[in-house]
This record gives sequence, structure tokens and C-alpha cells, in this order.
Amino acid sequence: MLEPAYQVDVVIVGAGIAGLSAAHRLTSAGVTTVVLEAAPYAGGRMSTEKVDGFRLDRIGQLLSTSYPELRRTPGLGSLTLRRFAPGVLLHRDGQTHRTGAPATGGSARGALHVVRALASAPRGPAAAPGRAGAPVGGAVDQARLGAALGRIAATPVERLLSRPELPAAQALAARGMPARTVDGFLRPLLAALLCDPELTTSSRCADLALHSFASGRLCVPEGGAEALPELLAGTLAPGTVRTGVRVTSVSTTSVTTAEHGEIRCRAVLLATDARAAAELLPGLRVPDFHPVTVVHHTTDEPAAVLATGTSLLLDADRGGPVAHTAVLSNVDPSRAPAGRVLISSTVLGTPPDDVDTAVRIHLSRLYGTSTRRWETLAVHHTPQAVPAMRPPHDLRRPVRLLAGLYVCGDHRDTSTVQGALHSAHRAAAAILADLGAAGPMHRADPAPTLPRAA
Ligand SMILES: Cc1cc2nc3c(=O)[nH]c(=O)nc-3n(C[C@H](O)[C@H](O)[C@H](O)COP(=O)(O)OP(=O)(O)OC[C@H]3O[C@@H](n4cnc5c(N)ncnc54)[C@H](O)[C@@H]3O)c2cc1C
Repeated sequence: MLEPAYQVDVVIVGAGIAGLSAAHRLTSAGVTTVVLEAAPYAGGRMSTEKVDGFRLDRIGQLLSTSYPELRRTPGLGSLTLRRFAPGVLLHRDGQTHRTGAPATGGSARGALHVVRALASAPRGPAAAPGRAGAPVGGAVDQARLGAALGRIAATPVERLLSRPELPAAQALAARGMPARTVDGFLRPLLAALLCDPELTTSSRCADLALHSFASGRLCVPEGGAEALPELLAGTLAPGTVRTGVRVTSVSTTSVTTAEHGEIRCRAVLLATDARAAAELLPGLRVPDFHPVTVVHHTTDEPAAVLATGTSLLLDADRGGPVAHTAVLSNVDPSRAPAGRVLISSTVLGTPPDDVDTAVRIHLSRLYGTSTRRWETLAVHHTPQAVPAMRPPHDLRRPVRLLAGLYVCGDHRDTSTVQGALHSAHRAAAAILADLGAAGPMHRADPAPTLPRAA
């Protein structure tokens, strides 16, 4: 049932944020584009499940307002980012320490203030959120940490990327920071930012993560992770994104699909996850992945957890499976029905067998309240959530494989939303340069019709 006349300039394989943002850049430049997505919905890993009025993300909840591509990506102009309180709450030695920082609005000075406030708070008497403590050491240690974060916020990214590269855990040990500062603050923070509990990630990527933390604010998209792909898809002409279409092979001039046969084109952009990309193009590198599990709860007794406000709570004690947790409905009220709370907790690495029970026990310590009657809304486990970035890690992996064949996605950059968008930015630029050099493009049909299903 193939219609041989069917042709577009560019076929994009995969409708995650990388594929969708590349499609927006290409169609805006007058290049006819179709995005083929195997799943029944667009968005890839950035999906949001709706349960009884709650909006439950599969993805962990840590974006940064300083991610440059969130500002630069056309189509995301109306994205609302809901910010966590500056700094973090730290659970250390059985106590929870509040940063006590004012909302200073995402500047390096703000982040430094957070750290100083963290470090200089007097020791509190009990293990309840809001009681003060000294999780990162004494005044000298705090000043050192503040200075280190300040330097990292002020260092240009290209300079960070030219530093010697080690596993992050080794680099932390070599930087002359006191163990208390490293274990009480930097390790749990980096584990959460990198989804890597053992800190095997390249120290350059860890520096980038700290740079983002120190120069911006942790945040979540209002309405859930799916807000990003929805906004991007909404900018494309109807029919540009085709869901339920699995691509089975690619070349520089066509793709073959399981449902619609061959589609001819002038360029193919592979925007799948790393594993699917390597299945279509054997030889592409497949990294290891960090598994991530996100557990969502609600409770009818919200008073105890509401004390955490809009803070992200990290466990520096590693006293259970939860790496970080937050009352997400405080940060973004649209994620829970009126009057209800949503508590979202992230487990890094391979989860224990009965993950929900283990998480509940751990959360009862972290929030200082019984969790026995909490209701579990969802447990989302993603074994291949985040590509590992072990050293040596190339953050600018080539996106142009051949004239006519391109690849993007988080595995070509950093394993983050920022990395996925940035790789798409680079790939779209490479395609436009190649197609521009080859002559005028098809402009007639902004949303071409697919061949009928066979
Ligand atoms: C649990 C979890 C927690 C995370 N935490 C964070 C975080 O805190 N901060 C952060 O910045 N990032 C985080 N990430 C990473 C972030 O979600 C990803 O980097 C980003 O969503 C990747 O987008 P992408 O477009 O590159 O790939 P994907 O979203 O994987 O999109 C690829 C698309 O290709 C499709 N596809 C695959 N094969 C085919 C085929 N043969 N034919 C057609 N379509 C195909 C897939 O169905 C998918 O829709 C997390 C991810 C997960 C899963």
C-alpha cells in the first residue's frame, strides 16, 4: 500500500523532546518534516500519568532554571517552571536541616547565600524539618564550600569542560574539601542531580551539574513533565507527528516502517534513545544506564509533610532507598486535586524487591511522621532511565554521521533535558546547513500525508 510519490525533506525517528524540538526548528525554516513515533503518544521519557486528578511524572523532578536550552528552544516560550525553595533540606545524622535561605531568585549569589546559611545555622535539638543544624561542617568549611560553588557558578562552561576528567567521587575526594562537606552536601546533591548514587559520572558533567545548581534554581514544569513535549508538539502543523509508527530501518534517503512501508526523504534524523538508535544503526555506542524509580504518595494527614514547604529533601545518611523527596503539590499545585498533597520520591539504582514498603519506612524517618496510612498512587520504574556519563565522556558527540543521516538525543550530549534539547539544536543546524547547500526544499505541504497502512 506504499505511495511511491510520498516524500518529505526530513524524517525524524522518535517524538521525545529531542525529536520534537528538532522538528520545530526544521519546519520553522521551511523544511517539510514528519516525526514518526513508535509509542501511541509523543513525549518519550517525559510522560505524565493521570490518576484520580493527580499528575504523576515518570521522570525525576530536577530541572534547573539555568538550563540554557529551556530559554533558547523555540516553542517553549510559554513554559512555566515551578521553582523549589533555594538550596535543599538535608537529612543528616538523623536530623533534618533547613537551609534557611531567602528566595533570592536563581543567581550565583543566591546559591552561595544558601550554602552559607546552611553552614552557619545553629544546631537544632530535634529531627524535624525546619530545625536548624550544621550539616556541612564549621564556619571555615562553609566558607570554603561557598567559595567553591561561587567559583563554579562564575566559571564559563567551556572552561569547566577543559578540566582534567575523573570519576566524580574521585574528583570530590581530590579537591581538598572536608569529608563532612563532601558526604553531607555534595555527594547527595550530585547523586540526585546526576541520578548516579555511586558518582561514577565524569567530573566534568558533575561540575556542569553544580554550575547549573549554583547559577539557577531547581524546578519542575508546571503540569508535569509532559508539558514540554506537549508545548513542542503544539507548535507543529497537525499531522507532523505520527504516533504508532515504528521505524525498522534507516538510510540517508529513506526509512522503512513496520506499518507504512518505505518513506523517501532527503535526510533522516534518529531521535530515539541510545539503545533504539544502535539497533537502527549498529555501531553507534550504547552506554550503560542508571535505573530510576519514582514513587508517588498522597496522605489524608498532610500537616506533617507540609512543613517541608517547597524544599527538596535529600538524604545524606543513605538510610534507605530514597535519594530525594518533595511535597510536589507544594511546588506545583496543579499536580494534585484541590486540598490533596502529592509526595514524590526518587530511588536511584536497582530498587529493593518491595520498593513501596522500603520507601514508606524511609519516608517516615525523613518526614518524621507515620506513613502507614499513606496511599500509593504509582510506582514508576525505568531501568534505562538515564545514560551513564562515565569518563571519558564526550558531551558534544557528533550529530552528523553522514550527509543525510543525523542522530540526536540525550546520549549525544549530557543525559538531561538540557542535553536532549541541545543535541537537537545541533542536529537541526547540521541538517539545515546540508540541505541549504543542496538547494531549495519542499515547501508545498507543511504536514504531508503518510502512505496508507499496509
Ligand atoms: C526516571 C527518569 C528520571 C529522570 N530525571 C531527570 C532529571 O531529574 N533531570 C533531567 O534533566 N533529566 C532527567 N531524565 C532524563 C530526561 O528525561 C531525558 O534526558 C530526556 O527526556 C530524553 O529525551 P529524548 O528525546 O532524547 O529521548 P526519549 O524521551 O527517550 O525519546 C525517544 C523516542 O523515540 C521513540 N522510538 C524509539 N525507537 C523508535 C523506533 N524504532 N521508531 C519510532 N520511534 C522510536 C521512543 O518511543 C521515544 O518516544 C530522567 C529520565 C527518567 C526516565
